[in-house]
Amino acid sequence: MRPLSYSQISLYQSCPLNYKLQYIDGLRPKDKWYFSFGLTLHQCAEYFFRVRVPPPPSLDELLQYYEKVWLSQGYESAEEEAKYKAYGRQIMSKFWEVHSAHFRLPVAVEHLFCVDVEGIKLRGYIDRVDKMDSGGLSIIDYKTHQELFTKDYLENDLQLTLYQLAVEKLWFLPVERLTLYHLRSNTPCSCAARDKERLDKAERLVLEVAENIARQRFPAIENPFCPCDFAEHCPYYRHKYGQAAPELKGTGILPGMVIDDAVERYVSLQHQIKELETQLEEIRQAIIDFCQAQGLARLYGREHAITYKQVTKTGFNEDEIRALLEPEGLWYQVLALNRSRLEQLISDETVAQSVREKLEALRQVVATSPHLWVRRLLPEE
Ligand code: SF4
Repeated sequence: MRPLSYSQISLYQSCPLNYKLQYIDGLRPKDKWYFSFGLTLHQCAEYFFRVRVPPPPSLDELLQYYEKVWLSQGYESAEEEAKYKAYGRQIMSKFWEVHSAHFRLPVAVEHLFCVDVEGIKLRGYIDRVDKMDSGGLSIIDYKTHQELFTKDYLENDLQLTLYQLAVEKLWFLPVERLTLYHLRSNTPCSCAARDKERLDKAERLVLEVAENIARQRFPAIENPFCPCDFAEHCPYYRHKYGQAAPELKGTGILPGMVIDDAVERYVSLQHQIKELETQLEEIRQAIIDFCQAQGLARLYGREHAITYKQVTKTGFNEDEIRALLEPEGLWYQVLALNRSRLEQLISDETVAQSVREKLEALRQVVATSPHLWVRRLLPEE
């Protein structure tokens, strides 16, 4: 199995099919300005810190390097590119000001790692590792996100957790701090290192993703970034964006009915059924009210009659039944597997994790049946 990186794991988590298309089938996503912008700033931060001995490069040297490594791909126009280029220069000037004042050599810059997680190789590049005064290590990852990171985001960031996992396997020093460095505002957002339980959980996630990939489980999972660059390969979007989309749209699926019409007819019938059900309920209630008010048990129409009767449903109180049957040894004969209670148990954090995982592993497909969900298309769709 080829090594897994954080980006691959996170892509697999958001959509396994997208992972397969990129990392197994070798499709390349389209160029995006934010990838180019992020990569340029990363390269400059690396250049600034990758010196053998202090001092770091001067501001002029850093800005010259910035010009040299600037990536133009993905911008929609020359104006847009110029705007971002000026903005990036501003960010790097501030970066230089902040870091040159108290420059300290990091212990690693853009460090390539490849560590073993129970037989699976985890690889990646760590932007920077600093040694703290306390003797522990601090992991820093540069980000060009627009907004500053919330504490919650930081605490749950999988990339930092995986990097800590890797650093602790590589070096003898303990990791004490994790930082997402917000480049746009030159703000380090830091938190304490993850505890053992979190690291174990991350290891299990790596193994789980590796196993799913090995078993070739690549379902398409819709997410907020859909449609992705590979919409023509996706079962959710192929009908709209695939090469054969125009012909498919005209395909007849019922005599005299093409797909477009079938979709709209289906939705229209659903609405009619709903409307009829509302009317039916109104008439039903009116008939019941009338029978009750008049003391009648039957109403006659021209061709039909409707009989009104109060039907009694019986049930048992579980505690009372249990109190009666348990002493007789009969309680377990009336117990049945309760699906909703089982689901509660699986998500109940007070239940031992190992038990919850074993329960989850016992989940199996008992039946499949086709379902249709209707959604109104937005004007831009
Ligand atoms: S468009 Fe399809 S393949 Fe792409 S991310 Fe969405 S669900 Fe996955």
